[in-house]
Amino acid sequence: MSDLHANLATLAPILDRLRETGVMNRIAGQDCAARSGATFANHSPVDESHICDVAKSGAADIDAAAKAAKAAFPAWRDLPATQRKKILHAIADGIVARAEEIALAECWDTGQAIRFMSKAALRGADNFRFFADRAPAARDGQHLPSDTLMNVTTRLPIGPVGVITPWNTPFMLSTWKIAPALAAGCTVVHKPAEFSPVTARILMEIAEEAGLPPGVWNLVNGMGEDAGRALTEHPDIRAIAFVGESKTGSMIMKQGADTLKRVHFELGGKNPVIVFDDADFERALDAAIFMIYSLNGERCTSSSRLLVQQSIAPEFIARLTERVSTIRLGHPLDPQTEVGPLIHKVHFDKVCSYFDVARQDGATIAAGGSALNQPGHYVRPTLFTHATNDMRIAQEEIFGPVLTAIPFATEAEAVQIANDTAYGLTAYVWTNDLTRALRFTNSLEAGMIWVNSENVRHLPTPFGGVKASGIGRDGGDWSFEFYMEQKHVGFATGQHKIPRLGT
Ligand code: NAD
Repeated sequence: MSDLHANLATLAPILDRLRETGVMNRIAGQDCAARSGATFANHSPVDESHICDVAKSGAADIDAAAKAAKAAFPAWRDLPATQRKKILHAIADGIVARAEEIALAECWDTGQAIRFMSKAALRGADNFRFFADRAPAARDGQHLPSDTLMNVTTRLPIGPVGVITPWNTPFMLSTWKIAPALAAGCTVVHKPAEFSPVTARILMEIAEEAGLPPGVWNLVNGMGEDAGRALTEHPDIRAIAFVGESKTGSMIMKQGADTLKRVHFELGGKNPVIVFDDADFERALDAAIFMIYSLNGERCTSSSRLLVQQSIAPEFIARLTERVSTIRLGHPLDPQTEVGPLIHKVHFDKVCSYFDVARQDGATIAAGGSALNQPGHYVRPTLFTHATNDMRIAQEEIFGPVLTAIPFATEAEAVQIANDTAYGLTAYVWTNDLTRALRFTNSLEAGMIWVNSENVRHLPTPFGGVKASGIGRDGGDWSFEFYMEQKHVGFATGQHKIPRLGT
């Protein structure tokens, strides 16, 4: 891995190009400014410097993009799936070829540390390859014969879809949503998050260079309340795949009601990691730390609540406090850095506001609890102890490098605390008692649970949450279920009796 100096040198021409071109929309294969001519400035969380200006689009831009996606739909739908597969693999190749540029740009745009982002582009390429390989079977259905009919089912792409992504790991998440949509035969209008528009544009360029026909994938930048809203309300857009906050999901559901949008929501979380006293102490400690302090804690699946059994709590929390205090906060392009700056001043202020909330609620700040006094949005990795689950620090998604530790006495109490939240995305259980693991996972209200493991994503498995954490699942065939419609056709196999009316 290169050092900070080398990474900055490689990034410099990428930033020069971005400053010069800005981030334009891309509609029907053409670069376009917002119809209104409006732009907004995008700044780096690293030092608050200006990165580039970005098209600030509205309903007219979304309308043009939706019309382009609608026009491109029949040809893309009807293209042999083997050709779609080929193009999606070519996109994956393009991502691999530009992986370093993507990683550096993502770090600069979002504040994520290079040690994690260097792999994010490759994971994005894997997403394209995974769904490319499944494209030829996406339409397969069932044969359900009855006495009189040969009944067959097939699946067809739903039509042009809207994809709305958040600012945390924006590159990886864009590939995660867009690759299955394209593999299914849908066309796409993508609205990336306003705080992190840079890598979505690179991805779009790669896709068209790989041979994706114009209009199949359109990119429109702008704010959630205007461009995002217009996308969810557009009559030509059949479905919205959304990743973001729970309250935004609820708004999108309302906005999409008049046009009967199908929606898929991957929303917030306040995920517990539960450590029993029979667990492998060292592995549980490593995983608990990794799952909240990696990716700046700006991760929907982060384990932001630590539930630790009372008998081991003093030692576990002492070791945790020691480790958290040594986590390296710094420049995201320094390979040594473990936690970088938070995405934006607005988010930085939100995360820092919880230091006072913790004090007011009566918790202890055992580590961190302050920001660096320098330009950029650097927050020290923070640990709250002596907390109870009714505190705001245990109930609200802080979405930063901030962990709330809560002791528990019994298994029954652990499950009660774990489930006592509006969210239900992931949970992590550490125990060496197999029967308890089976019983406990059965009682947990979460869409995804890992036992004796951190979050290790396997693409064929379902990804998504319950309660306020989402609706629907991604991954494997679940993604195709969302982007496609079932169609049933019954063929008469003989001269069965048809009821006769009239004379
Ligand atoms: P956000 O909801 O503020 O924004 C997400 C996107 O929605 C942005 O592109 C934004 O412009 C757009 N948007 C905002 N208002 C809109 C509206 N009224 N209509 C249409 N679009 C609108 O979320 P964020 O702050 O960017 O991202 C962080 C959140 O995302 C966290 O809550 C996190 O847990 C969640 N997240 C969930 C998952 C998951 O898989 N469950 C994955 C990543 C992030």
